[in-house]
Amino acid sequence: METSVKDVFDSVIIRFGGELWIKKTWTRRLYERRLVRNIKNVLKHYEVAYSEIVRRHGRLFLRTNSAVEAARRLARIFGISSVSPSLETSSKLEDIIDRSMLLAGHLLKERNSFAVKCRRVGDQSYSSADVCRVVGQRILDDFGEKLGLEVDLDRPDVRLGVEVRNDAAFVYSDVIDGAGGMPLGTQPRVVGLLSGGIDSAVACWLVMKRGCPVVPVYFDNVPFTDETTTERALNVAEVLFDWAVGFPRRVYVVQHGENLKKIIENCSRKFTCLLCKRMMYRIAERLTDMIGAEGIVTGEAIGEQASQTITNLRVLSNAVQKYPIHRPLLGFDKAETETIARKIGTYKISSRKARGCTAVPSKPATMAKLEEVMEAEEKLNIKEMIESAIKSLKAVKM
Ligand code: ATP
Ligand code: MG
Repeated sequence: METSVKDVFDSVIIRFGGELWIKKTWTRRLYERRLVRNIKNVLKHYEVAYSEIVRRHGRLFLRTNSAVEAARRLARIFGISSVSPSLETSSKLEDIIDRSMLLAGHLLKERNSFAVKCRRVGDQSYSSADVCRVVGQRILDDFGEKLGLEVDLDRPDVRLGVEVRNDAAFVYSDVIDGAGGMPLGTQPRVVGLLSGGIDSAVACWLVMKRGCPVVPVYFDNVPFTDETTTERALNVAEVLFDWAVGFPRRVYVVQHGENLKKIIENCSRKFTCLLCKRMMYRIAERLTDMIGAEGIVTGEAIGEQASQTITNLRVLSNAVQKYPIHRPLLGFDKAETETIARKIGTYKISSRKARGCTAVPSKPATMAKLEEVMEAEEKLNIKEMIESAIKSLKAVKM
C-alpha cells in the first residue's frame, strides 16, 4: 500500500510570534509555559496522540504521528504564528538529504517548480546555503529529468524547508498560518458583552487573541426579543469557546426585559437604547467585580448605530467608573469586522435570523446630552434594577 504524504510526517514545527521575543526572559518563559499548557489542552481535547513537546531555540517541536491533524488544531491557538507538519532527523547532512528526498518524492509532480530553504541554529560543518544547494541538486538528479522539474526561488509550486537546530533537523513543506497574538491566559479575564450579533463576537475574539480569557454575558431582553435571540448568542459563545480550549465554557445570562420595560414606561423614548445599555454596563460592572475580572468588552464601533456616535459612547461610558469599557472595534468598518467574523467562524451564526429588539425607538437621540440622560434616569430605581438583574443571573455551562 502506498503511503500518503500525511503518513511520512512525525512532528510539527510550532513557531511563535515576534512579539514574544521582545519580552524579558522571565515574561517570555511565563508566556511559553502558558502556551505549552494551552497546546496540551487542545491536543487532549481533540484526542490527538503525541509523545513529546520539545523546546529548541525559539521554537516548539511536537512529536506525533498525527502531524497534519495536530497542525490544523494548533493553528487555532493564540500565540502561535505558524505551524508546519515535518519530518525529524539528525543534523547530519546525509540524514537531512534522506528526509528531504522522502518528502520531495511525495510532493513533486510533473513539470513542478521547486525551491529549498534552510534556517540553521548551531555549529554545523555546513552553511544554510550548502543545505539548499546539496538538497536542490539531489532532487534534480533523482527526479529532475523524469518529472521535468525546474528551480524557481520566487514562486515555486513546491517549497521544501529545512530547519536545523543544533543536533536535530526538521524537513517540511507547508507553512500554515496560526492565530497569532499572545497565549490565552497571559492577561487577566474580562467580561464580554455578547449579543450574538456580528460585532460583539469579533470584539471578544480580538481581546482573547491578546491573551485575555473572556467571560461572556448575554442580556436576555424577552419580551422585546425572543428565544431565537438567546439561542443565537449561546451558539456564538460556543464558537468562541472553541478558541479557548481548557478555559471555562460558561455564559452568564441576565434577565433584562423587566429593566427595559421600566425604561420605556418612565423615560423619554429617544433615550431607550442609551438607558438600556447604561444598565447593561452597570450590571456587567457588578459581574466583573464578582468574578474578579479586569474590564468590560463591547462590540461598539464609532457611528455604527445611533447609540454609538462618539457623543453617545461618552454617555455610555459614564455609567461605570470602576472598570474600563474596552471597544476593540472602535475604528473598524463593518466589512473589516465581517472579514474577521468569517475567519473565526462566527459569521454564519451571527447572521442567522433572530428577532431584533422591538424596543428600539424610531427616532433615537444621536447626540444625547449626558445631563439630560442622567435626568431621565432619575425616574428609575437603578439600585433595585441592578439587584434584581444580578439575582436573575444564570451561568449556562456549555
Ligand atoms: P452586535 O453586532 O455585537 O450585536 P450592534 O452593532 O448590533 O452589536 P448594539 O445592539 O448597539 O450594536 O450593541 C452594542 C454592543 O452592546 C454590542 O456589540 C454588545 O457588546 C453589547 N450588547 C448589545 N446587546 C446586548 C445583549 N443583548 N447582550 C449582551 N451584550 C449586548
Ligand atoms: Mg447587532
